Amino acid sequence: MQFAFTPEQDAFREELRAFLAAQLPADWQVKNDREAMTDAEFAYSQHFAHKLGERGWLTMQWPVEYGGRAASHIEQMIFAEEMAWAGAPLGFGFGTQLVGPTLMVWGNEEQKARFLPPIARSEVFWCQGFSEPGAGSDLAGLQTRAERQGDDYIINGQKIWTSEGQYADWMILLARTDQEAPKHRGISYFLVDMKSPGITLSPLINLMGSHAFNQVFFDSVRVPAANLVGQENRGWYVATTTLDFERTGIARVIWSLRQFEELVGSVRRERQAGVTWPSGGQLRNRLAELRIEFEIARLLCYRVGWLQTNGIVPNYEASMAKLYGTELIQRFGAAAVNILGMAGQLEPECRRAPLQGRLERTYQAGLSYTIAGGTSEIQRNIIAQRGLGLPRG
Ligand SMILES: Cc1cc2nc3c(=O)[nH]c(=O)nc-3n(C[C@H](O)[C@H](O)[C@H](O)COP(=O)(O)OP(=O)(O)OC[C@H]3O[C@@H](n4cnc5c(N)ncnc54)[C@H](O)[C@@H]3O)c2cc1C
Repeated sequence: MQFAFTPEQDAFREELRAFLAAQLPADWQVKNDREAMTDAEFAYSQHFAHKLGERGWLTMQWPVEYGGRAASHIEQMIFAEEMAWAGAPLGFGFGTQLVGPTLMVWGNEEQKARFLPPIARSEVFWCQGFSEPGAGSDLAGLQTRAERQGDDYIINGQKIWTSEGQYADWMILLARTDQEAPKHRGISYFLVDMKSPGITLSPLINLMGSHAFNQVFFDSVRVPAANLVGQENRGWYVATTTLDFERTGIARVIWSLRQFEELVGSVRRERQAGVTWPSGGQLRNRLAELRIEFEIARLLCYRVGWLQTNGIVPNYEASMAKLYGTELIQRFGAAAVNILGMAGQLEPECRRAPLQGRLERTYQAGLSYTIAGGTSEIQRNIIAQRGLGLPRG
């Protein structure tokens, strides 16, 4: 493994830093990705994403014909890192991170030509309709049905935890097309226009009080057969490709590392002002441990990017990065609110909230990270079986 960036990659990082320093408003405050955006923040985020899309930065590793820059996954990772460090708004990631890469593997030429360029330009937003009330970790147990009728499929059923569904123009949807087949073999993968008659959304409010996800109901929704990705009843394999792209999360790690540095700065300032902690030595050790753990998390993500750059599809390696990174953010969030004392629990609206309540938000949002995109237990199963070759329990 090469432990250094190439001069071109370093130059790209510098270009990006200069762009972000010049373009981001001085008072821009990034929100945690589980917090609701105001209309103004949403509009600004879209405007900013368009600027990134114009430069081909949102989809750097895509071929030029689809709006990318044919760059390596390492450059894509540098982009994600710098954006997260600056707290810059990225727009919505489902299209660029999940849908586009999946279509490049499984989509036909017509689907690629139709759907990829608008994603690269950040003109069209996507959401992910996989989970159902009775199917999360056991995703293949899903019950939403799709029945062929002429040139269309008719969809009936319900999805849940659909993040950003309220903003989405399109959805990637898994539905059962064969009721009799073994559960993994009767599923198909569809591209669904969210404006189709028969779709209704109902907001779900998360524990932070934000409308970050939804329930989506399908009542005889007509989807053209041309929107089937891959073959009928073979959608499970398309879905696992999507899930493989979902599990790395360097942006979250770096975003939290930035907050860690803010916390260290705050501790330093308090110390200089004469504040003492009953166990100062322990505090120093805890902060040092966390800083090392952030570096490990970053390297686990780099490993995934390096594998992808070398044409290897990451598998348990992506699970390792996801598991370690998300559990680290929880450890960090808990440590941070403890270090900040009682005031650490104050929410951003409170005048006395330290660091504008950002660490309190991290603490709360962190709970969802080890669930979304596959729980920690599922990641451990993958690492045990595919990484260590252990038998199924
Ligand atoms: C913030 C957030 C955003 C989300 N966004 C989306 C989205 O946009 N689209 C979408 O489709 N879904 C989304 N999800 C859903 C997410 O993918 C599921 O919540 C997740 O896969 C877990 O499924 P579940 O909630 O049904 O829990 P369950 O699968 O019911 O699991 C319950 C508990 O049992 C454990 N468990 C289950 N099976 C096993 C096993 N085999 N071995 C060991 N332990 C096991 C789990 O680890 C967990 O602790 C989101 C979830 C969250 C929290």
